[in-house]
Amino acid sequence: MMEITFTCPECGSGIHVKPSVEATVAQCDVCSHKLPVKFNKDHEQGIVKDCPCCERKDFYKQKDFNRKIGVVLFVIAAILSIWTYGISFIVLYLFDLILYKILGDVVACYKCNTLFRKVSNISEIHGFDHEMNDRIVYSDHDFQGQAPTH
Ligand SMILES: [Zn+2]
Ligand SMILES: [Zn+2]
Repeated sequence: MMEITFTCPECGSGIHVKPSVEATVAQCDVCSHKLPVKFNKDHEQGIVKDCPCCERKDFYKQKDFNRKIGVVLFVIAAILSIWTYGISFIVLYLFDLILYKILGDVVACYKCNTLFRKVSNISEIHGFDHEMNDRIVYSDHDFQGQAPTH
């Protein structure tokens, strides 16, 4: 079944839930904040078309790679490169390649950063689009699931 991670608007913690049509709130384990959610039949089948948190239809997919870990690894490689004459960067590059092969795709909502794992309609979701992201985040534009055409 699809796994959904909401971001708690109160404390920023991840709230992990499985979609269920009956559920109307997701509760944060850390601060007990209750987040209103709207699941439909699509979600129970792993299909992401509407965001259960903000009800937008704009999503992107990315590799399920923790960016914080990536930054930490890069810093370690940068420090080590002083003694290894840059070899650590090659190791990091290879490590990245391997990691990217193992990791699956994760779908994210542009508007509220809700994450979806084990999505069945993953092939319909496009990669991250900077223009869409800027317009949704800064000018609150609603693309209704239609990526801008150039
Ligand atoms: Zn919280
Ligand atoms: Zn959303």
